[in-house]
Amino acid sequence: MVDLASQYARLKPEIDASIQQVLDKAAYINGPDVKAFANDLSQYLGAKHVIPCANGTDALQIALMALDLPIGSEVITPGFSYIALAEVCLLLHLKPVYCDVNLDTFTVDVNQIEALITPQTKVIAPVHLYGQCADMEAIMAIAQKHHLYVIEDNAQSIGADYTFSNGKVMKSGTIGDIGTTSFFPSKNLGCYGDGGAIYTNNDALGEKLKMIANHGQKVKYIHDVVGVNSRLDTLQAAILKVKLQYLDEFNKERRNVANQYDAAFANHPNIKAPSRNSSSTHVFHQYTLQMCDVDIPHFRDTLQKVGIPTMIYYPLPLYKQTAYLQDIQLPHSEVLSTCVVSLPIGTDMEQEQIEFIIENVLKYFKK
Ligand SMILES: *Cc1c(COP(=O)(O)O)cnc(C)c1O
Repeated sequence: MVDLASQYARLKPEIDASIQQVLDKAAYINGPDVKAFANDLSQYLGAKHVIPCANGTDALQIALMALDLPIGSEVITPGFSYIALAEVCLLLHLKPVYCDVNLDTFTVDVNQIEALITPQTKVIAPVHLYGQCADMEAIMAIAQKHHLYVIEDNAQSIGADYTFSNGKVMKSGTIGDIGTTSFFPSKNLGCYGDGGAIYTNNDALGEKLKMIANHGQKVKYIHDVVGVNSRLDTLQAAILKVKLQYLDEFNKERRNVANQYDAAFANHPNIKAPSRNSSSTHVFHQYTLQMCDVDIPHFRDTLQKVGIPTMIYYPLPLYKQTAYLQDIQLPHSEVLSTCVVSLPIGTDMEQEQIEFIIENVLKYFKK
């Protein structure tokens, strides 16, 4: 779905040098590059505190742990999403309360959040799915009114800009109390293994998050709170330090592919191209079509036969997963889980590849 080898080939001299200096220094754990990358990312995002950690799922877990929520507290989060947030809620004995999503933007439907708020609700956790922000202005207003925390799952939208109605622009993930991200290789800012980060502008939360990620200790071997062991490898930090300089360029390349897909699929009778939220830029972690009246397995097979991979993100709403069953129905989440198909998108795609994909998608419907 994403060509990581070509991107590495382009950046090879810089990345190899950065890896080599870690090996030369043998600073494998919490080496200087971890701090340097955290500082660079903090500058890039405009977030005061950046705490690197082992992966994006840990980032969410640590974020929720830092809030010290009573057992059974409720976390409002989209029902159509990746599993990570629901998973860490259950691990921490919190209750995910699923909200339906907007059919056009795939992000949480802010008009349905307030009806889900109960005395147990403590957090709203939007997921900026596929690369654009949920309607953060509305979410922040609801959170303020009901005294709730906001945790943004920014794993798919790093680098996106959100513009408030007063013109203020903030980076995706830095608007709520805590933002989390993943550096999984295929993410917009990916390393060559696992990695993640947590960010906040709140000093007290920053301190707490840092402690929790490091066995609950501020001073070595003195443990004030229960924590976890979640570190970003120095080698991964050294790679990310190089790649962060290219993040805006990577996102621009993704947008360029998306623009061509948009133009090709506009007004197609069988294909609904992804809509863009007017207050957020889109960094197209995924380019996801809706094809509600199409035989999707056959469509995918046909493309696979000419070497074009496609993916379904995600085939089941969270509340229909065996481990997470809830007896609810969210109509948009259910429709989307049967209708979405994501096309290949990434950096370093050849113009010919893009055109080949477009041509084959369109050809499928001409038969
Ligand atoms: C990738 C992803 C995560 C988890 O990241 P890992 O690094 O794989 O743990 C969490 N949330 C979303 C929305 C993601 O896309």
